[in-house]
Amino acid sequence: MNILNLGGLGTGGQDSERATGPAVCSRKGCRAGADWQLLWNNPRIHTPERRKVWLSCDEHRGWLEEYLQTRGLWKETIPFLADDATVGEAR
Ligand SMILES: [Zn+2]
Repeated sequence: MNILNLGGLGTGGQDSERATGPAVCSRKGCRAGADWQLLWNNPRIHTPERRKVWLSCDEHRGWLEEYLQTRGLWKETIPFLADDATVGEAR
């Protein structure tokens, strides 16, 4: 059995939920380091206390906030502290 021979695209990449490397902006194509974390919740698929987190650089903070706000998903924007590397369950 050869389960390694899937796809064959040769990228060697893995689809992992876990982010690797430094925390960077969530905006597509942006590689800037994160300065902010945007907390949001989609009431259609998340329980009310659940918080999803998008990381954002200074430049894209407004863009991402507006994106979430127009969909009624935005909750809060708080500074992202590199020291406090725990993302996900931040209150
Ligand atoms: Zn950015």
